[in-house]
Amino acid sequence: MYTYCVNFGLEKTAEKVLQTKRGISKTIITILETKKLKPKKCRICGKVMPWNSSYGICSECYKRSYISHDDDYYDPFDW
Ligand SMILES: [Zn+2]
Repeated sequence: MYTYCVNFGLEKTAEKVLQTKRGISKTIITILETKKLKPKKCRICGKVMPWNSSYGICSECYKRSYISHDDDYYDPFDW
């Protein structure tokens, strides 16, 4: 009976380890999916931009800020 209990206990532990591992994998997948699916948005107007855009704002906002800051040089990309 003792052996049975030990075996049962170990099985339970092994099951727990497996469940924890599965949980971690699930978390990693969720994080990766969230990162992948999260669209890049313009900091000013919130417009969704191409994920590979290297700027923090969209071209429209860039043009707008460039025009409004024409007399005083201002580079919104140089943050
Ligand atoms: Zn914008």
